[in-house]
Order: sequence, then structure tokens, then C-alpha cells
Amino acid sequence: MYNFTEQIYLNEEKCVGCNRCLTNCPVTDANIAYLVNGNNKIKINTEKCIHCGKCIKVCDHNARDYIDDTKRFLDDLSNGKKLSIIVAPSIIVNFGEYKKLLGYLKTLGVNFIYDVSFGADITVWAYLREMEEKNLNTIIAQPCPTIVNYIEKYQPELIDKLAPVQSPMMCTAIYMKKYVNINDDIAFLSPCIAKSDEINDKNTYGYIKYNVTFKRITEYLEENNIDLSKYKESNFDDIGCSLGFLFSRPGGLKENIEFQIKDAWIRQINGPHHVYDYLEDYNKNLKSNNQIPLVVDILNCSYGCNFGTGTCNKYESLTTIDEVDYKFQKLKNDKKVDTEKMNLQYEYFDKNLELEDFKRTYNKDSAVNSIVEPTDKEYDEIFEKMYKYTEESRNINCSACGYGSCKTMVKCIYNELNVLSNCIDYNKKEVINEHHLLEERNEFFTNISHELRTPLNVIYSVLQMQMSYYSNLTSGNIEKYNKIIKQNCLRLIRLVNNIIDISRIEAGFFKPLYIAENIVNIIENITMSIAAYAENKKMNLIFDTEIEELYCNCDANLIERIMLNLLSNSVKYGKENGTIKVFIYKTNLNITISIKDDGIGIPEEMQKKIFERFQKVDTSLSRKSEGSGIGLSLVKSLVEIHGGTIICKSKINEGTEFLVTLPFTSVEDDLSSNMEKHILYEKDSSEMVNIEFSDIY
Ligand code: ADP
Repeated sequence: MYNFTEQIYLNEEKCVGCNRCLTNCPVTDANIAYLVNGNNKIKINTEKCIHCGKCIKVCDHNARDYIDDTKRFLDDLSNGKKLSIIVAPSIIVNFGEYKKLLGYLKTLGVNFIYDVSFGADITVWAYLREMEEKNLNTIIAQPCPTIVNYIEKYQPELIDKLAPVQSPMMCTAIYMKKYVNINDDIAFLSPCIAKSDEINDKNTYGYIKYNVTFKRITEYLEENNIDLSKYKESNFDDIGCSLGFLFSRPGGLKENIEFQIKDAWIRQINGPHHVYDYLEDYNKNLKSNNQIPLVVDILNCSYGCNFGTGTCNKYESLTTIDEVDYKFQKLKNDKKVDTEKMNLQYEYFDKNLELEDFKRTYNKDSAVNSIVEPTDKEYDEIFEKMYKYTEESRNINCSACGYGSCKTMVKCIYNELNVLSNCIDYNKKEVINEHHLLEERNEFFTNISHELRTPLNVIYSVLQMQMSYYSNLTSGNIEKYNKIIKQNCLRLIRLVNNIIDISRIEAGFFKPLYIAENIVNIIENITMSIAAYAENKKMNLIFDTEIEELYCNCDANLIERIMLNLLSNSVKYGKENGTIKVFIYKTNLNITISIKDDGIGIPEEMQKKIFERFQKVDTSLSRKSEGSGIGLSLVKSLVEIHGGTIICKSKINEGTEFLVTLPFTSVEDDLSSNMEKHILYEKDSSEMVNIEFSDIY
């Protein structure tokens, strides 16, 4: 269910595919939409995720969660391992009785407890000294690991601008290890999911071994009914901070630096919806040699670390930023930090700390590949699959898919990060299509019932008449009635055969047997087979083709079905004493067969429609001939199966010409293999009921 190798993971069963995570993710390709039994799910693209935690926050279905080291930390403590901890200042607003929490942790065996605020003072001191020493004109502050992740993965050009100094957490750890000689493994009691990345980064030397988030420790206390009020308070073991505790509120770093450099230009920017765009602009300005701030005080979380991704305000009802901020403001005022106190602290740092110890480097090999840009043709192909044929439909940009534009969606589908069915516009069109299909199907059944009922009614009435008047019937009458019954039975067979063929074609079960055949032969034989039928109407049937051999990769049986349908129509709708002419000619790569009569003709507006099912031209002749209107739609499907086309040219009362065009095959040399195929073909066709043409048509 969970893939615990992922820091942020998906609980697939809870995911309803609402796309909210995708919408809120600051990185386009950090999520992958996929289908499970037709349901949309969104998983994390681990390599691309920057662990900003926004998806966890916005998921109303609890389908996303994170893992930290709380359990391992508590297990190790209970196994007697000597551990010390560093605590983020946001503990003040996450635990009402935070000193009692510290006291409780001491009872579990925690050795030293240091406040990160003290490390934050070191960070600011190191920033200022490093900027002065290296004459740096701009730096991006780096206490926020999500920002570091983003720059290393997506904006590696900015790595050189990241402050070359460790975060407050790391400065505290370095101080503890190098200056106080605390050799215990250290845990960070933190408001941040992404701190795990910093802890596991090779540039932080494994100084910290556990990321223990406030949220998880709160859950632990609750689950184990631990009442903090019963524990003694404990204080921090460090020497105390000046303004470093302000780091956890937005602009806290800015306040710290401004205290030292009154007129410094410091950009304060927070929140996932601003910071990443800002970094792009910052990079542009850098490249264009535009003015840029001395320090960028930047945090992924909109309300700073106090409302970080691993926080919870369970023990106090502090829910608004001002309520939280007031606590910090009060602390600031109470502290009465002045220049004198600050100078003393800096003198201490200058004298006792090695700047070199607090320097930080970054990973220059963590950049991720950006997603591949499709070509224009590839964009078109996917847009078309989404039923987006016009510019307008390609720019609906409703964002329901989670991206800002239809184009981004196409790009993500191309990169297999998303699926067609996650586009709402596509789904709407699918519903409309399905509705049309349903309508078509209903219409089909209505028509079919009508076509079946008519001959059945005739057969039934004639039989009933015969039964009622049996004794009075003359042999002449019986013969007449039997003829009517036979005619209508055959009409039914013809209709049912056509319907079966059409449905087999549509269902994809139809497997024509293609063989390179001399099509001239096939057409001539089938034309001549209806000679008697044409003669009945005193029609002149002409096969007018000089070419003797033209090869076409085709199924001879189906070519015969095509021709029989067209020829029977020519007889049905041709005029008595008229002419039916069949001829074949070759154009470039095609073979065209023309079947032409001089009969009643088809009005222009119907010439395309007659290829649709049940479309009949409403003339008295067409009604008299008892056609079902299904033959031409079958003919069209059969022609298309062969990769061909069919068109109709006609003039009322002058006649009709059907032109069937099939691809020409120059495979005479392939004919040797035909013998074998013919044997197969014979076997297959043995299933067919053979009824004489004159009977059926
Ligand atoms: P059917 O002939 O069974 O009605 P078809 O699908 O073969 O069904 O033809 C559809 C309609 O097209 C016919 O009902 C008829 O009105 C018209 N049609 C087809 N062929 C011709 C033709 N050669 N001349 C005039 N009308 C034709």
C-alpha cells in the first residue's frame, strides 16, 4: 500500500483523483496521474518532488502523508542510546507546555537540549562575515531545505548564489559537536518534513541523525496518553540567543540582518505560489545584470516555519498568523536586544568560532531532467485524441487537470505523467460521443425491428390465409403464395446476413483473407453471374474492360459481396430495357471499378447519405423494390477494409454510377503463396450458406 522509500507517499486507496495535489504542486512534473480500474490516482514522482508538503496539506482525503524519524528516535532512546536534541523555536507555538515536553524528553534519557535560535545567531554572524570577506553582492538564504532542494534540482544556475553558510540547525549541531564536544547522536525536533533532506545531505556530514517532527511527536503523546502537565519543566542547555529565534517567522532573517545593516536591501518572500516564480525572475535579473537584493530571505511555507509542514497547533488554539506572531513579538520586546548586547555576542563569536567550520557547499549533480517537449506534430496528435481540433478548444485552460494550460497537459501526457481521461473537456466529449452512440444504437434497433417485421408480417399473413382457405386454394394460388413466402424469407436472409457482417466488422471480428488476386477476373465472373437477373428486366449488361490482369490484395469473397450489392441495386433501380455497364481502369496506384446504370438516379442531397445505414431514397421505386437501406453501408465498410473508397455520381432520371477505388498491388511474384491461402479460404467459406444470387437479390 505505502512505498516507504518515498518521504512523501500516496495511500492509493484513499486517493480520489481530485487533482488538488497536482494543482497545488509548485513543480509541474512532481506528480504522476495514472488509472487504477478506470479511477484516476496521483502518485508522487519521487525524483522530482521537493518535499514542500503542500500536497499533504491540501489533500482532504488524507491520501498523502510523510515519514520522519520519530519512531526510530524513541526506540533508540528506550534502548538506552545516548541522544541529544536540537529544538526549533516554533516549538513555542506548537506546544503550550513546551518546557514540560523538554522535561518529558529528559526523563526518556535525552542528554543535552539546544535551541536552534542560538545557531540562527551564528548563521547571521557567518552570513555577514562571509559576505564581507568574499565581497558578495547577493545571497539566497538557505535555512529552508525545500528552497535548497528546488535550486539544486531545478535551478542549478543559482547554486552559487545560495548562502555558503550552514542553516541554524546545522550551525547549532556544529557548535555542539566542535565547541562543546557533545558526541551524542543528535535529533532535530522540527517543524519541517523536508529537514530530512538536509539531515541526509552529504554536505551536512551526518551530524544530525533524526528528523523528529512536532506533528509526529504530538501524535505519539496522544496515542500513549502522556500528560505533559505531570512532568517537570526543563530549560535549554545552550548559552541563549539574541534575535535568532525570529527566524521561524516570515522575514525573521530580514529583521536579524537589518539590525546589523540598517539600510540593507533584503527581499522577503514566502509561500509556494510565489517563491519559485520569484527565483526564476531573480535568475533573469542576474543574467541581465539588473539590480538584485543583497539578501533573499526566502521560505517555502507562506507563514514561515511556525506553520511549517511538520507542525501542529494542537496544544494551543493559536490558529492565525497574528496570534502566533504576537507571541514572538512579545518575546522580542521582552528581550530588549540592543546594539551593545549584539556586539558582545559578535565579539564572542569572532573570538571563539572558526568561520570555516560553518561553511556549506551544495550538490551540483542533483539537477533533474526537464520533461521532453513534444514536436508540433506530436502536440497535434495528442490534441486530436482529446477531441481538440480547434485553437479555441486547445486553449480552454480550465486547470481542472491540475496544470495551468491544455498545452501543459498535452506535454505531460506525452511524458507519461498524465492520462487523457484526466481532462474534463475530453470526458465531456466522451460522454457526448457515448450519448450519440447510444442514440445511433437505439435508432439502429428501431430500424432493424421495422425491417424484420415487414417481411415477417407478410409471411405470417400469407400463411394464415393459406391455412384458413386451404381447401379452396387452387394450385395456381398456392404457387403464388409460396412465391411470396419465399421472396420474403430471402429478403430476411439477406438482411440478417448484412447485419451479421456489419456487426462483425464493427466488433473487429471480421478477418478478411487478403490474397493478391486478379481483380479483373473476379469482377467479370460476378458481373456475368447476374446476367439472367438483368435479362428478366430486359436490361443490357456490359462488362467493358480491355485490361486482362490487374492485381489487388483483396478478399475475393468480399469483393464479390461488394459487387453483388452494387449490381443488384443497378438492376433494382435501373430502367427496363436500360443498360448496366461495368468497367475497370487503373490510375497511378489504384484500381477503379465503375458500375453504371441509366435508371432513376439519386438526388444530390442523398448521394452521400445512402452510405449510412437504413438510408433509402424515398421514391416509389425504392419502396417497391423492398430494399432495407443497409446494403450500401455494408459495401462502404467492406471497401474501406480493403483500404479503398467508394463514391456515387448520379443524376435524377439519367442514371447512377458507383466508383469503387482499391489499392493496386504489384505482387504477381507473390502469387506462388496464393495456392496455400486459397485452400484456407475455401475452408473458411464452407461455413457460409450458399444461396443463389437471383434468390437473394
Ligand atoms: P437497399 O437497396 O436495400 O434499400 P442500399 O443501402 O443498397 O439499400 O441502398 C440505399 C438506397 O440507395 C436505396 O434504397 C436506393 O434508394 C438508393 N440506391 C442505391 N443504389 C441505387 C441506384 N443504382 N440507383 C438509384 N438509387 C439507388
